Amino acid sequence: MDFEYPAEAEAFHDELLEFLEAELPPWWVNFLSGDERNIPFTREFCKKLAAKGWLTMAWPKEYGGGEADIWHQNVVREVMWGMGEPRGPQYMNLNFIGPAIMTFGTDEQKDRYLKPMAAGEVIWCQGFSEQDAGSDLASLATRAEDTGGGFRINGQKSWVSYGIYAEQCLLMARTDPDAPKHRGISMFVVDMATPGVAVRTIETVGGPPQLYELTFEDVDIPYDALLGPRNDGWRVAMAALDHERIGLAYGGRTQVQLDELVGFAQETTDSSGRRLSERGDVRAKLIRLRALNRAQRLIMYRVFADQTGAGAAVVDPSIYKVLGGQTTLQAAQLAMELAGSRGALLEADPMATLGDGAYAWWGHALPVQVAGGSSEIQRNIIAQHGLGIPRGR
Ligand SMILES: Cc1cc2nc3c(=O)[nH]c(=O)nc-3n(C[C@H](O)[C@H](O)[C@H](O)COP(=O)(O)OP(=O)(O)OC[C@H]3O[C@@H](n4cnc5c(N)ncnc54)[C@H](O)[C@@H]3O)c2cc1C
Repeated sequence: MDFEYPAEAEAFHDELLEFLEAELPPWWVNFLSGDERNIPFTREFCKKLAAKGWLTMAWPKEYGGGEADIWHQNVVREVMWGMGEPRGPQYMNLNFIGPAIMTFGTDEQKDRYLKPMAAGEVIWCQGFSEQDAGSDLASLATRAEDTGGGFRINGQKSWVSYGIYAEQCLLMARTDPDAPKHRGISMFVVDMATPGVAVRTIETVGGPPQLYELTFEDVDIPYDALLGPRNDGWRVAMAALDHERIGLAYGGRTQVQLDELVGFAQETTDSSGRRLSERGDVRAKLIRLRALNRAQRLIMYRVFADQTGAGAAVVDPSIYKVLGGQTTLQAAQLAMELAGSRGALLEADPMATLGDGAYAWWGHALPVQVAGGSSEIQRNIIAQHGLGIPRGR
């Protein structure tokens, strides 16, 4: 297996960086920074990326893609995360919602939903989790009843990222309450403008970006809003979640942060006047994080390479998620440690140090341990499906 990008992908990497330097406004920090200009900017930016053919490069042509190889698409993922993800919430369309529709949608659904995604015109959200169904997602209680003319949705979804901006929601709901819990669930596409859908902001400790609660009260949707087979939505969700876990290119972001940390350590002295980069303890931590970051990215490449014929383990998305979560958190903790009290400043403060602020790194790294399935749950998956350890009682 080759551990580096092909030469054309490297050249594309440079071209993309140049484009970003020209397009990102001076105020741009990170789409998670809470700046109210972020979302409108990301909407316009996605349209520009689409016009260049860089938004859904690896998708099939019939769905508005460019059929580029997966490495080009991966360059986009890593560079975007490294630059604060200027695609905004639309990264989710590209990473896992679009692929789920490609795999499970009817021709009509593919035509209706994938083309606006490829044109960068639509934000989707993911309505899976509920207050009592997070790790134990199959316990979800939101109902979709067959009314004879379509489905009627009633229930509530929690921790929905970008819910207030979304035009469409990929929604899991129970269609057969009498079936075993994994078997009575179906996946739907719900237009967020449908009467009966309400969105409430959930304030979180880290400040923006907030999460959202969606409530569905007698929301009538047509039969063709069903994505995949009725009562087999669990399979659709698991396929989508695997794409989600691997599609989050935290590794690209951590790499940029580690570059900044190394620069900071080279420029900064401690109270005894010694450069941080000359201290053995700091060097050891930086080297360890570099190695973890590299390992994490190689696992991601292995999964992508699998799509072109190489072998990847079925648990690789979970390994990637645990390792990525740990590395990004440890990099943020080291940043806080090295920056001292300045590390606690918000990124808008002129004295803040290290890119968009060590505290912001840490604030963004914490939820990574939980979003998309917590690290503990990923470890359970690795233990059972990777190591063959029987499930405990
Ligand atoms: C920033 C962020 C964004 C999110 N965005 C979305 C979104 O867009 N759409 C969406 O549907 N959901 C979203 N979520 C929800 C996310 O998927 C859930 O938070 C996650 O699955 C965990 O569920 P929970 O919060 O209910 O925690 P719980 O399931 O209550 O777990 C609490 C703790 O117990 C541990 N635990 C639970 N069960 C086990 C077990 N069997 N073995 C070991 N440990 C266990 C967990 O690891 C966790 O540490 C988001 C969450 C975050 C933090």
